[in-house]
Amino acid sequence: MSRLDLFIDRMVSQRACLDHAAGLIRDIPGPVFELGLGNGRTYHHMIQILPDREIFVFERAVASHPDSTPPEDRLVLGDVRETLPAALGRFAPGACLIHADLGGHNLDKNDAFARMISPLVEPLLAPGGVIVSSDRMYFDGLTEQALPPSAVLGRCFIYR
Ligand code: SAM
Repeated sequence: MSRLDLFIDRMVSQRACLDHAAGLIRDIPGPVFELGLGNGRTYHHMIQILPDREIFVFERAVASHPDSTPPEDRLVLGDVRETLPAALGRFAPGACLIHADLGGHNLDKNDAFARMISPLVEPLLAPGGVIVSSDRMYFDGLTEQALPPSAVLGRCFIYR
């Protein structure tokens, strides 16, 4: 598979999983978290599909497209290894949807990072909430869910 193939599979899977998750959390109250703003593509999509939700973005350095930059009061700036534990009190009883897209090009590093932050992410999820992630994550109390038909196995993960 070429890098272009992998990139396309990731984009298609992110969109399919976010659209699917938006349906799953319809009756779950709470805000939505975007972990990793990047260019802001997935954030922009989440704004469109979840227009009535407060979406908070966790990012260490904002470099997004101007159309896809969250307002200051919805931005949690800093390293997620610090900002996620600090967010516990502020956002109790948690987010209904957490989208985690914090990885780079090195798959081994992504996996190590996902292992490290999984226990920081899990307590921020509201009861019945859903996590969509570009990397496999390692949760004690959540179960991996089936992907929607148009997502590619291994390019995106859903936990509930
Ligand atoms: N979802 C984005 C999009 O659709 O444009 C792409 C996100 S990009 C793959 C990953 C982002 O995660 C980068 O902007 C990077 O700065 C951020 N990031 C990586 N490690 C982080 C950390 N430890 N704390 C906060 N942000 C981090």
